[in-house]
Amino acid sequence: MERELIRSEKLKVVGEMSAGFAHEIKNPLTTIKGFIQLFYEQNGHVKENYYQLVIEEIDRVNNIMNDLLNIANPNPEEKKAEINIDQMLEDILALYSSHIYKNHIDLETFFHGSLPVVEMDANKLKQVFINLIQNGIEAMPDGGRMNIRTTVEDETDNSSHVIIQVEDTGVGMDKETIEKLGTPFFTTKKTGTGLGLTTSYRVIEEVDGALNVSSEQGKGTAFTIYLPAKPAVKGSRTSADKAEK
Ligand code: ADP
Ligand code: MG
Repeated sequence: MERELIRSEKLKVVGEMSAGFAHEIKNPLTTIKGFIQLFYEQNGHVKENYYQLVIEEIDRVNNIMNDLLNIANPNPEEKKAEINIDQMLEDILALYSSHIYKNHIDLETFFHGSLPVVEMDANKLKQVFINLIQNGIEAMPDGGRMNIRTTVEDETDNSSHVIIQVEDTGVGMDKETIEKLGTPFFTTKKTGTGLGLTTSYRVIEEVDGALNVSSEQGKGTAFTIYLPAKPAVKGSRTSADKAEK
């Protein structure tokens, strides 16, 4: 299995530049799309497939801009929430289960059940999970198995990490591909944006977590996320002792 730690340097610049010009591009794009739709309605002889192609390409650019906006993070402190990771994954999978089923994928979940909470932007974390699940689905065009696990890793210095693993039995990756993960716009897919993992790495680094990958071509891939748990209230484990005094 090839193992690679995710590097942070290549993400920083993109994050800082993204928000500004993503907005600058999205606005004219909305105008262009509106006028093309109007033009099509008034000129029925325009070839339908040409029209569809233009609309699809506009939507694609729009998707890229939305990803870029996600990468940028002007106010990291403002949207913090206490997150129950198991619950969040269950909610996402409830929405995705029919999509997963349609793709002939057996999903198995192994939830810890009583994880400590993680404090961060819930929407961003949700997007990270969706990116990893979606990549897993796309890696198994002929179906396969997806395992999602959560657990907690205790450390000696009273800090702990919540660990989430998304594993698939898909096409896997060679060493060169693994090394490029996280590079903005790196994609091996026909209609990919190559921004899903860039966004994901950035979101996880913001909270001093880590995202590791282990993959083997033809066998499958496992992404493992480490998120720092919110420290428990000091002394809570010894509350019985205190009550004695
Ligand atoms: P996109 O999905 O738009 O291509 P991502 O950033 O999500 O962009 O992924 C980048 C690339 O990493 C993918 O195109 C694919 O080559 C590779 N990749 C990501 N996840 C997996 C996976 N679970 N299995 C195999 N390859 C993967
Ligand atoms: Mg993706």
